[in-house]
Amino acid sequence: MSKSKKVLISGASIAGPTLAFWLAKYGFKVTVVERAPALRLGGQNIDISGPAEKVVKKMGIKTAILDGNTGEIGLQLIGQNGEAAASFPKKAALTGTRELEIIRGDLVTILYESTKKDVTYQFDDSIKTLTQDENQVNVTFASGKKDTFEYVIAADGVYSTTRQLIFGDEPEFKFLGLYISYMTIPREKTDTNWWRWYTAVDSRVLMLRPDNHGTMRASVAFLEDDKGYEKLSADEQKKLLKTRLKGAGWEAERISKALDEADDVYLDRIGQIKAPRWSVGRLAMIGDAAYCPTPLSGKGTTLAIVGAYLLAGELAKHENHQDAFKAYEERMRPYVEKVQNLPPGVPWMVYPKTRFGVAVLNTFAGIVASKPVQKLAGLFSSKGKNKEEDIEIPDYG
Ligand SMILES: Cc1cc2nc3c(=O)[nH]c(=O)nc-3n(C[C@H](O)[C@H](O)[C@H](O)COP(=O)(O)OP(=O)(O)OC[C@H]3O[C@@H](n4cnc5c(N)ncnc54)[C@H](O)[C@@H]3O)c2cc1C
Repeated sequence: MSKSKKVLISGASIAGPTLAFWLAKYGFKVTVVERAPALRLGGQNIDISGPAEKVVKKMGIKTAILDGNTGEIGLQLIGQNGEAAASFPKKAALTGTRELEIIRGDLVTILYESTKKDVTYQFDDSIKTLTQDENQVNVTFASGKKDTFEYVIAADGVYSTTRQLIFGDEPEFKFLGLYISYMTIPREKTDTNWWRWYTAVDSRVLMLRPDNHGTMRASVAFLEDDKGYEKLSADEQKKLLKTRLKGAGWEAERISKALDEADDVYLDRIGQIKAPRWSVGRLAMIGDAAYCPTPLSGKGTTLAIVGAYLLAGELAKHENHQDAFKAYEERMRPYVEKVQNLPPGVPWMVYPKTRFGVAVLNTFAGIVASKPVQKLAGLFSSKGKNKEEDIEIPDYG
């Protein structure tokens, strides 16, 4: 299966390099253009599950991912007095912690290392214009360079400008009324290897998760209307987060103090990308650019890896790119729809406003975490009712 067609991918995070890996393996000539001057290694604990686990195994990088494990032992909901209100260990049927838990930047590095020999990376650049005809796509880059490619694929995330160039305003950003911020803070003696999740009054959630770098990954999330906070400067975002942390209890004061020194604070509004189609002519999209499911689904990385694998496989399998894009979408869309279909009441139900609401939520979580319920859940997941197994990973040879 050898193709010497030239493909340009925009975005060197998870989806882009995974697609590059497989296309290069099938004989395509691949360039990845990344707007940042170097790999962006920020971000927190992400996981790879179900079908994506099968893909990374095929890529020969599962061991490297396991070696980069964060050491997280499970999810613990923290009650209003700092006590563990409910615990979901890693091995339990209902848990937030997977076998493949890794810091996002570590996964980006693994993907880059496993592709850099066979793929051209063009950092500090981006696509400025795109025009396509029957035979090729003509690209001009922000740097002034010009080139032509057989196909161009957008893998540049939820705010993809390449998607905008290809589809205009056709895809919808569906805001979920939630802001989430992430930052790295010093580890303290009292920290554990649990993913600790604390619900505060006034629709706020604080989280602390362990990493394998000797630090802790903190997160502050809150419900709010779309106010454009993601566009504020880093200092303004820190100020805003400090106001949201006031009176929240638990580790709020510690996180607030750590904000002064934190150099990787990232605040974003949370929303899904809903696109009626993922390709037009010789142009297509994958990952968050095409179908961001949000961190609430816990499946952003899984979708990015699976979509990249399927698109590469279908392009290698079909002579005609239109057949390939069609087959990719037919395989992937039902899975994306299931993943984007968040449980009713998410996020509002898990961000209660009052003290009573918080107490009800924690009591409910305690019941769900109890042994009989976990046992029952185990019965259902072993019957293959799990959303993750709802997509086939074909062998493209
Ligand atoms: C810095 C960062 C931190 C993150 N932290 C978390 C986290 O803590 N938890 C979590 O669940 N998810 C996080 N994410 C999102 C997560 O990586 C994705 O949800 C998921 O893995 C799908 O990845 P993706 O490759 O489709 O998109 P993304 O991971 O969003 O990557 C998009 C890439 O495209 C690049 N890019 C953007 N615009 C252009 C352009 N015009 N031209 C060229 N390149 C461009 C970006 O710099 C980035 O490298 C983070 C993403 C980034 C970029």
